[in-house]
Amino acid sequence: MRNKFLITVLAFSCIATAYSQDNPRLVVGIVVDQMRQEYLYRFQNKFGEGGFKRLMGEGFMLTNAHYNYVPTYTGPGHASVYTGTTPAYHGIIANDWWDKTLKKKVNCVGDENQKPVGSTDGHGAVSPWRLLSTTVTDELKLFSQKKSKVIGISIKDRGAVLPSGHLANAAYWFDSKSGKFISSTYYLSALPSWVDSFNDKKMSDALLNQEWKTLLPIEQYTESSPDDSPYETVMKGKDKPVFPYDLKKLRQQRSNYDLLPSTPMGNDFLEAFAEATIAGESMGKSGYTDFLTISFSSTDLVGHAMGPNAVEVEDTYLRLDRSIASLLKKLDEEVGKGNYTLFLTADHAAAEVPQSLKDNHMPAGYFTDDNSLKTELNNFLATYFPGKTLVESVSNSQVFFNTSLFSGDLKSSGIDYMLATELVSNYLLGKEGVAQVFPKSLIRQGSYTEGGMKGFVVRGYNFKRSGDLTFELEPGWYSSAHLQGTTHGSSYSYDTHVPVLFFGKGIRHGSSKQYHPIIDIAPTISVLLRIKFPSACTGQPIAEAMEEK
Ligand SMILES: [Zn+2]
Repeated sequence: MRNKFLITVLAFSCIATAYSQDNPRLVVGIVVDQMRQEYLYRFQNKFGEGGFKRLMGEGFMLTNAHYNYVPTYTGPGHASVYTGTTPAYHGIIANDWWDKTLKKKVNCVGDENQKPVGSTDGHGAVSPWRLLSTTVTDELKLFSQKKSKVIGISIKDRGAVLPSGHLANAAYWFDSKSGKFISSTYYLSALPSWVDSFNDKKMSDALLNQEWKTLLPIEQYTESSPDDSPYETVMKGKDKPVFPYDLKKLRQQRSNYDLLPSTPMGNDFLEAFAEATIAGESMGKSGYTDFLTISFSSTDLVGHAMGPNAVEVEDTYLRLDRSIASLLKKLDEEVGKGNYTLFLTADHAAAEVPQSLKDNHMPAGYFTDDNSLKTELNNFLATYFPGKTLVESVSNSQVFFNTSLFSGDLKSSGIDYMLATELVSNYLLGKEGVAQVFPKSLIRQGSYTEGGMKGFVVRGYNFKRSGDLTFELEPGWYSSAHLQGTTHGSSYSYDTHVPVLFFGKGIRHGSSKQYHPIIDIAPTISVLLRIKFPSACTGQPIAEAMEEK
């Protein structure tokens, strides 16, 4: 008995020296997909005590944190939070983009060399191989000789894969075919038994076999516009965009489990999986600092469909607030209060519904969609380059030329290229809704720290991957023919201004109105953990958020 006790003490002291006692046992990074900073205030009176309010009250809040590049999309957002740099360096220039070499559209986490794990025909040809720099999660792995556990989870594959980096033990995302959490062969050859047990509970069915009613009586949602609004998308199977949503009935209109992510129940499902991950992997108990990344995607899907003033969006945030409270409670129980550090941010914010701005005499508009613009530009260029289809893609506000079509001698001199660039620039500038056009040559002359819209373009532009020209629209404008719902992607503050909250071990109580770009989050965590910064980090640690050690 006595010997056993001694061995336990010795074993424990060995583990205890594996990392500094000042370091948190676990870091939890939360990204809320499509969250405006203002939601923290607009919905504050309806939040409970244990969720957002607890983070705001006990943690450190930045009230003036922004994305500092375009496009403000999900893939680039997640990559930038965890690499501490922007698409110019980390290479995730959009969610999907035109690959100039492969001559086809590629996805930011698509990887044809991988297969799904956990669902044979599921969506699992996925890995972080297109991410060109290390993440703070990678650096933690390098520091601990891979002994730290790093796991990424999300409804969207990119929300799980990019944050957890190249060295993650695993990333898990939702497979809408099977209703399960799955992974890819990049990480594992089979799902761990705790993931199988979670999937076996068929919680996605239980969540879809109910009605989505408002959490509070609907007349209390005074922070939002009336439920029946012309600016909201009507869900397939409904005739009005109003509560209640009979999910059991509505799911018949979709294939498989497709409906779940478009409801706040997608976030409930992820939160339950987060708790299962913490228990199943004994996160925070390895003796090394572990890292769990969580990305809540349903806020984005509901936000896109309904716009920022919908009761559906408010209800989704009130439910997320409850989910965050449950998660914090679980962390307190499993890892212990004061033993973990957590941050919460968003991958982008969201614009008003343009039509609602127009109807209220505010500047906004709908710009030509990508395919129509491509046709339009090719027709225009055909006058100068007869018989050639020069534009091979318009995507993410970028124009890609098929440069192999420029003629022989002129091609080597670059004169054709210059001519086409100038023609398209002037053509685009003549179109209503276009604010500025930036040809590649102009971007090359730009500086990374430059101000104004050009700086946003320079930091978002990767020379190997981005297009020949990029254009930015006027405030309130976006490319779409749909008059319902909204999007994001611009350099304007309605898309860039997001919450940043730090909480727990090593974090001061308070808030700051200082400007911080979102790329400051990763080096802050690096300093806190006393590890190397991510390999292409261009952010700076947020000193005011950290306790003096
Ligand atoms: Zn997003």
